[in-house]
Amino acid sequence: MSDCIFCRISRGELPSKRIYEDEDLFAFHDIHPLAPVHFMIIPKQHVDSLAQCTDEQQAMLGKILLLAPQLAAEQGLATGFRTLINTGSGGGQEVYHLHVHVLGGQPLPAVKSLINKP
Ligand code: 5GP
Ligand code: ZN
Repeated sequence: MSDCIFCRISRGELPSKRIYEDEDLFAFHDIHPLAPVHFMIIPKQHVDSLAQCTDEQQAMLGKILLLAPQLAAEQGLATGFRTLINTGSGGGQEVYHLHVHVLGGQPLPAVKSLINKP
């Protein structure tokens, strides 16, 4: 059994503000929210990142993307939301258990303004 932090959260061994759970997926609020609403959807099965996904994860990935708008609506994000997947060190990933961020609740800047070019 994995002792990764998100595995432990999805097993209920560590506390979290859970918003959704089924046999495959778990969703919970980010501990350091970057917007008024900021939660993450994760698979219960441990996968390091999007870069490690194969055909085996196809259905799970589709399920996460279809769940995102449903949970966003439940969280009151009527005007829209941002989904974000950081992958690997080059993508700024900090927790190596695949997760999809969902952010909203305030107007978010265009994606071109997120990265400071040198
Ligand atoms: P990453 O940079 O890997 O895409 O994002 C990891 C996210 O996980 C960060 O936004 C961070 O705030 C969040 N996070 C890290 N540890 C915990 C935790 O123990 N509980 C919760 N709810 N979020 C966490
Ligand atoms: Zn894990």
